[in-house]
Amino acid sequence: MAVCPWCVQVFTPSGRGRPPRYCSPRCRKAQFQRERTLKRQVERYRDLAANNLGPFRDYWTEKAAEAADDLAAVQLAARQ
Ligand SMILES: [Zn+2]
Repeated sequence: MAVCPWCVQVFTPSGRGRPPRYCSPRCRKAQFQRERTLKRQVERYRDLAANNLGPFRDYWTEKAAEAADDLAAVQLAARQ
């Protein structure tokens, strides 16, 4: 029995070899894309924070921190 880190569904890995972490290729792909999107968001927001002044800098810094938190959560879930 295993739990898919993307859809949190319990599934029984079939076959031999290394057990799959995801219940389906669809979930594996979704997880990968979510990570990639969040990584890009963090970069983009940090960029915006660096290139803006005053209240906008704080806003983008906060957005970057939020995206970084989300990314860390997604990565942690994927590694358990
Ligand atoms: Zn799944």
